[in-house]
Amino acid sequence: MADDKLRILVIGAHPDDCELKAGGVAAMYRADGHHVKFVSVTNGNAGHQSMDPEALAKRRLAETAAVTKMTGIEYEVLDNSDGKLQPTLEARFELIALIRSYQPDLVLTHRPNDYHPDHRVTSTLVCDAAYMVIVPHIVPEVPALRINPVIMYLSDNFQRPQPFAPKVVVDVGPVLEQVLDQMTCHESQFFEWLPYTMCQEVGFPTDAEGRRKFLQTFYDTFNGPLAQRYRELIIQTYGFEKGAQVQYIEAFEPCEYGSPFTDEARKRLFQMLP
Ligand SMILES: [Zn+2]
Repeated sequence: MADDKLRILVIGAHPDDCELKAGGVAAMYRADGHHVKFVSVTNGNAGHQSMDPEALAKRRLAETAAVTKMTGIEYEVLDNSDGKLQPTLEARFELIALIRSYQPDLVLTHRPNDYHPDHRVTSTLVCDAAYMVIVPHIVPEVPALRINPVIMYLSDNFQRPQPFAPKVVVDVGPVLEQVLDQMTCHESQFFEWLPYTMCQEVGFPTDAEGRRKFLQTFYDTFNGPLAQRYRELIIQTYGFEKGAQVQYIEAFEPCEYGSPFTDEARKRLFQMLP
């Protein structure tokens, strides 16, 4: 690649998954001039209570473009229907080609156990692509990589068959506003569909202030428990004084199918850590 900057590839199932689980580190990588690409493996055309799927896919694509415009994060949305993703050979080959073309140093994706079938299948597709990206006879039209990227899982709360076990925690408090800005781009998701799925307990926030408050409350609920759960690792990473204060983190667990997550890899890939 043309420069010595890192290339970070975040592969989520839906437009908004990458922002929610890795929007903070993405903002940090961008601030240091590294390259970041978000991928949504589905087009998000099911997640709405009233819009028809075709119009919704267009709208959600436009929302990802707004993220790119705001952050400089590249965004690609694959044309797979939301809620119907399958671990087909075709989908695996598409991901192999995509990963090879981007030549990432680090790939972040969902864990294989998750409530949403599209998240599970996305994880399966990335894990199934992990070794194949170096095999030239598979998808021969896109040159194979010489080495596997490091692959890490995004955080989740699921306990079975085993709970998330991060090796890296990053304090994203300093970039929290940027994460909320990214989320704000996904209007159909966070201000229409999400309140609907919460049975409208909170109503549909329409003005900028109400929307910010809604996002902050949602993010607190969604992300807040992580810092408590992984406090020990946070203190190991940031020292006691700072570590005890950290409120919001993004956390990552190495996937065994990528390149080994060595101390050297940690130092190179997470330069924002002390
Ligand atoms: Zn999702």
